[in-house]
Amino acid sequence: MRTPVIAGNWKLFKTIGEATGMVKDLKPLVAAVKGIEIVVAPPFTALSRVADALAGSNVHLAAQDCYWEEAGAFTGEVAPKMLKDAGCSHVIIGHSERRLYFGETDATVNKKVKAAINAGLTAIVCVGETLAEREENKTFAVIESQVWGGLEGLPPEALSKVIIAYEPVWAIGTGKTASDAQAQEVHAFLRNLMARCFDQGSADGMRILYGGSVKPDNVRGLMTQPDIDGALVGGASLKAESFAAIVNFA
Ligand code: PGA
Repeated sequence: MRTPVIAGNWKLFKTIGEATGMVKDLKPLVAAVKGIEIVVAPPFTALSRVADALAGSNVHLAAQDCYWEEAGAFTGEVAPKMLKDAGCSHVIIGHSERRLYFGETDATVNKKVKAAINAGLTAIVCVGETLAEREENKTFAVIESQVWGGLEGLPPEALSKVIIAYEPVWAIGTGKTASDAQAQEVHAFLRNLMARCFDQGSADGMRILYGGSVKPDNVRGLMTQPDIDGALVGGASLKAESFAAIVNFA
């Protein structure tokens, strides 16, 4: 009943030409896929041209971040409605790299999530513990405070526009994936947490993605876990063949 999502986070990679070339290669490889929400997240500069290249396809467009104000003197920022205007349907918010390098907090994530939903975007909200936090048995506490802080004040009906991505920081770009069981354990915790914070219906409907070194050869085991509804893919989303392989396995 939950539509799986496979999202590719391109991070700080690809010029406009590389980005449009990639989606031209990708489209035929996933054209026959039904029942999966396929999403790509190029850098800001390529969004509008990639949107043109994706027109009429089954691939959705995401940005990697947004600001929370609609307009104003905020040099360097991009508003959710500008992303919508550029052709985005989704936006990634609170990725661990943004938290680590750019000072994002649960409070800024919360403002961004609300602004994104108000603009009609679906927010892919990232949470996850560091290796030190896992080793200190703080995984559940960290995730709980990230979810409470990031989604605070959202009415339950807004949750249909939220996707959670569980990305253990120690698994991102390291080649170390969480085991299927480790990931499932946190996903089940997240779903229970959604039921406690909101209601059972919202929890049952919430898509919860796993992210962190997802590749064509490990996606199947992850996707067969009952509470894993898809993947947020970094490195393996940069090539059309490997991203399409992940989509097709899912
Ligand atoms: P990775 O990145 O697949 O390269 O580990 C995942 C992410 O950061 O979303």
